[in-house]
Amino acid sequence: MKLEILGTRGEIDESALKHRKHSGILVDDALLLDIGEKEYLSRNPSQIVITHLHPDHAFFIIDSAEITVPVYGPESYQGNQVIVQTISDELDLNPFLLHTFPTHHSKKVQSVALVVTRNSSKICYTGDMIWINKEYHSLLKDSDLIITDGSYIRKGGMVRKDKDTGRLYGHNGIPDLIHLFSGLTDLIIFVHFGSWFFKDIPASIQKLGELGKENGVEVLAGYDGMILDTKEL
Ligand SMILES: [Zn+2]
Ligand SMILES: [Zn+2]
Repeated sequence: MKLEILGTRGEIDESALKHRKHSGILVDDALLLDIGEKEYLSRNPSQIVITHLHPDHAFFIIDSAEITVPVYGPESYQGNQVIVQTISDELDLNPFLLHTFPTHHSKKVQSVALVVTRNSSKICYTGDMIWINKEYHSLLKDSDLIITDGSYIRKGGMVRKDKDTGRLYGHNGIPDLIHLFSGLTDLIIFVHFGSWFFKDIPASIQKLGELGKENGVEVLAGYDGMILDTKEL
């Protein structure tokens, strides 16, 4: 599978040349995972799957544009010019097979991680997250790569608890996510960068690499326009 990471900036004011756009990953020029920018429609995806209904992953929450291809997500949504259909655990998006499973992230919206397989290639994109329940970890095993949430460099990230429901919400820390995923893949790519990343970008990229080495896994910083081919990994 060929992946093009279209956007690597979180929901923040900071921006940089290679980290300017919100979430989006284009798979084999056809399947779009998250649509954080309206301009991604110009890539003519044949199908769109979103991890959750936050505007930096689903621009149409706060802006409008007609979307005529199927859009799938963890919960249904009907806007003026877009309808999001609920995904079940497994969806045949010929030639791709999509598996989804729940993540902990928001107190208001449902969120899922996406596992896309095509022939013998398998990739995972978690979207924003705190945690994935243990029962789902086996689904991630032997992924060619896992793309995940770079919001916070500090251990523990920023996790809060909703007083009424007890539900946890926010983003975990990068060290925690590396720890979680290092046994499940050989390559972790961070996207959705928070403010920490923009203070000194070369140092931030280096820091990610070092954290990977400490955990016996390759860790890279994604950037807008990054292209990866699972055959070449
Ligand atoms: Zn986000
Ligand atoms: Zn979010």
